[in-house]
Amino acid sequence: MLHADGIRKTFGNLEVLRGVSLTANKGDVISLIGGSGSGKSTFLRCLNCLEHPTGGEIRVQGEAIAFKPDGHGNREPASKAQMRRIRARLAMVFQSFNLWSHMTLLENVIEAPVHVLGVDRKQAIDEGLRLLERVGLYDKRDVYPAFLSGGQQQRGAIARALAVQPLAMLFDEPTSALDPELVGEVLKVIRALAEEGRTMILVTHEMSFARDVSNQVLFLHGGLVEEAGAPAEVFGNPKSERLARFLGSFH
Ligand code: ADP
Ligand code: MG
Repeated sequence: MLHADGIRKTFGNLEVLRGVSLTANKGDVISLIGGSGSGKSTFLRCLNCLEHPTGGEIRVQGEAIAFKPDGHGNREPASKAQMRRIRARLAMVFQSFNLWSHMTLLENVIEAPVHVLGVDRKQAIDEGLRLLERVGLYDKRDVYPAFLSGGQQQRGAIARALAVQPLAMLFDEPTSALDPELVGEVLKVIRALAEEGRTMILVTHEMSFARDVSNQVLFLHGGLVEEAGAPAEVFGNPKSERLARFLGSFH
């Protein structure tokens, strides 16, 4: 479903990704863990074309993203249309709640279906309300983001991501910016998505959650996958000393 092979990314002289590969099959929940600056966000952003890898290949449902030189030693997508299509298949939820502040929650959720995908407005509203119900925010449908807690905003962002019926969901530290008492309600929604078999790639510092919900864990260090495997192996029996030390810092 989603395949990244040897992804490299440099910013100027800084080599942030040095050949990261990942394969996500349907229903996989893959956690990316690693210290700050190890390249987790950059990798996730490369997957959905928010950044363009300097090297390596990305295939989504078998379709390779075509790149061309951007004239500054990097690459950019050869086709804007393809980039938009790929991006729409992979919905991203960010660390900071990024609902549009000038729209109500429901308007946020139906925006992309109506204006990008061309879904009939009435149908988008029905579906949007169903999604808000799922994340426990039906009664907040007409509220503006500023009047929602961080946890509610993040659940709203998840509903909005689901509304485009993505092939896979990408989460970049979705609970890192939340007050501790609000983390649980967001993890509960993500867990429910995992249980219904959604394909997800999750950058997280919630180690016990990652261990619980994922079927594959990648530990990044210095722009490389230092260790990867099933959660029981990676968390229970780390082979790399760096990984052991990293996991130790959470106790
Ligand atoms: P992580 O998410 O694992 O903390 P990031 O992928 O955000 O790591 O960052 C990896 C490295 O890349 C960091 O050193 C960061 O400063 C650098 N970096 C990320 N984005 C940019 C950018 N747009 N320009 C220059 N450097 C960047
Ligand atoms: Mg990051």
